[in-house]
Parts: sequence; structure tokens; C-alpha cells
Amino acid sequence: MNCNIPFMDLKSAYVELKGELDAAYYRVLTSGWYIMGAELEAFEAEFAAYCGVRHCVGVANGLEALTLVLRAWGVGPGDEVIVPSNTYIATWLAVTHVGAIPVPVEPYEDTCNINPALIEASITKRTKAILPVHLYGQTAEMDPICGIACRHGLKVLEDAAQAHGASYKGKLAGSLGDAAGFSFYPGKNLGAFGDGGAVTTNDPELAYKIRCLRNYGSREKYVNETTGFNSRLDELQAAFLRVKLRYLDDWNEKRRKLAAWYLKNLTVSFPELILPKVPAWAEPCWHLFAVRHADRDAFQAMLTRHGVGTLIHYPTPPHLQKAYAELKYSAGSFPVAEKLASQILSLPMWPQLTEDVLALSVLARSFKQK
Ligand SMILES: *Cc1c(COP(=O)(O)O)cnc(C)c1O
Repeated sequence: MNCNIPFMDLKSAYVELKGELDAAYYRVLTSGWYIMGAELEAFEAEFAAYCGVRHCVGVANGLEALTLVLRAWGVGPGDEVIVPSNTYIATWLAVTHVGAIPVPVEPYEDTCNINPALIEASITKRTKAILPVHLYGQTAEMDPICGIACRHGLKVLEDAAQAHGASYKGKLAGSLGDAAGFSFYPGKNLGAFGDGGAVTTNDPELAYKIRCLRNYGSREKYVNETTGFNSRLDELQAAFLRVKLRYLDDWNEKRRKLAAWYLKNLTVSFPELILPKVPAWAEPCWHLFAVRHADRDAFQAMLTRHGVGTLIHYPTPPHLQKAYAELKYSAGSFPVAEKLASQILSLPMWPQLTEDVLALSVLARSFKQK
């Protein structure tokens, strides 16, 4: 009962792959080429193949992956983009950074993902795109979302920042809409040792535009086609990501084992918990394992006392953040998102954690008594 479990342990990935990561580091540093080179090109090809799409374009981070796609599509001031009311704020920031307006739609309570049945009522003449999030590593319900988008002539941009290797009806996140934005922030399922991101798409024209936009609007040195940005994935991070990509499926399998342990044992240990629901069409990659508890703060405090690290994803929904005060939402505007924010709690979930360690913790409380 006294086994301390941190919420996450990023260093364990380096310890596990030290030999290969050190070799990648040495290869890049001795190459003398650090930006826009062979490692990035190779990673882009490998990650596109992994996701089952034609194009992958590495960028500086997940937020910019989403922002650059919206910009490349010409989404801007006066336009609206449908977003989940329940998401990390970066999803909304991508929309407001191009000058467009985020139009929030409530999630299903049991999956925490956007409820497609509520989307159509929020579509107006100004709507340009739907931006579903595959929250916690479980894909949104993409068929109805893409159906609505098709009927209304809208683009679909997946926020796949938490969904590397998650699938929907057998198809991987990143291949389910018109384009997707990935984050390689260190804590993500495929994480760099620094910031990183990527856009995936089957659309060659979009891929070309993103390649321009990420590099000052230029494909050819000193020839600038548009007023672009500096949003590149550097060689060192690309080289590290190439190493870790080879372990992604294996590590996601380990996360699935931990999730199965939680789903089996938590109902016995803590019957009052609401556990994540996995629809038959979903194969989550379990970026996070988020449970719900009516008295979340007390439950979290109890786990902390017993050495189990937890975090809240996320304590305040975007519409209640000061950053979005100008949108004039208030408490009660999106009751499902607000209820989730008050009840949700993420338990330890990282591939080097084992079921044996979980079984020694308070999380196996009454399970052990049985
Ligand atoms: C992490 C994350 C982002 C942003 O990615 P960064 O690389 O940190 O910019 C966007 N959306 C969601 C849902 C995320 O979890």
C-alpha cells in the first residue's frame, strides 16, 4: 500500500532508449546541419506512413500545427469554427490566432468528446470548419462529424495532439478529417525532448502551403510566396522522434494494459468512480486515464496522501478563462463542460508504469481485501 506512483515520469523513456537516443543526438550534432534537413524529411515520411496519409509537415508545436492549417485554408476574421466546449485551450487559441471566432459545442458526458448531434444547430453562414478534439486519446465520433461537414461544405481539422496511434473504426487519428494537427510536447504519447508538432493530410496543396507558411512563406531560399512564419521542427527533435516512433505502438499497448487494469479494478476499489466509456468503434491510445468523482478534490487529496500523483485535465474550461472574457460567456454557459471540469481527475498513465506497481498502491484497495 505504500508504493509511490508519480503522475508521469518522462525520464523513464530516456532511460529505456538511451542507446538509440544518444546515437541520434550524436548523428545530428556531428552532421553540422540542424534545421530543415534529412532527419526532418525522414521523420515526415515515417510519420505520414504511420498515420496512413500522404503528407506530414513538421512544425514547431501543436498549437501552430492547428493555426497554420486554418490560415492555409483562408479562415480568418468574420469566420467561425466549431470547437468542443471541453478541451485544452490551445484548440480555441488556434481559432482566435487567425482572427476567427470559436463556436463551442458541448461534449457527451461519458466520453468527454464533442457531441455530433449538437453541431448542426451551431452552424451559421460564417462557419468554415469543424475542429473536433480526440480528447484523452480517444477519437471523436468522426463519421457523423464528417457527414455534417460534407453537407454544409465545411472543412474538418482534427486536433490529434493527444491521439498518436488512436483509431476510429480501424483508421488512425490524423487520417480522419481533411487535415490534423499533432503535438510532440514531451508528455504526449509521441513526445520530443522539447517542443514539436506536425500537420498530416492527404491534400498536396495544403501540404505545400504549410511547408511555405512554416518557413517564412518560402519553399525556395529567398523566394517568398506568402508572409509566412518561423515554425519548424528541428533536426534534433526529428531524430529523437524517429527513434520514439518505432516504440509508439508498443508503448500504446502498455498504456492499454494499464487502462484495462484500471477499468477492471477501480470499480471494485472505488465503486463511486465514473470510469471512461469506450464505444465499440474506438481504440484509444490512452494519453490520459481520466476518471470522474462527485467529490473530486477529496478523492484527489486521499490519493496524494497515499503517494499517487494525479492531475486535473482541465480545471477551467476555455470559456471561463480570462483570456476569453471578450466572448462574454459565464458560469452556466456550457454546463456539461463545467460539470466535467469539476469532476475529472487523471490517474498515472505512462508506458513504463506497470500493473504490478499499480496493484501495490491504494488504487487496488478493496481489490486486495477481496
Ligand atoms: C497539447 C495540446 C495542444 C497543443 O500542443 P503544443 O505542442 O503544446 O502546442 C493542442 N490541443 C490539445 C488537445 C493538446 O492536448
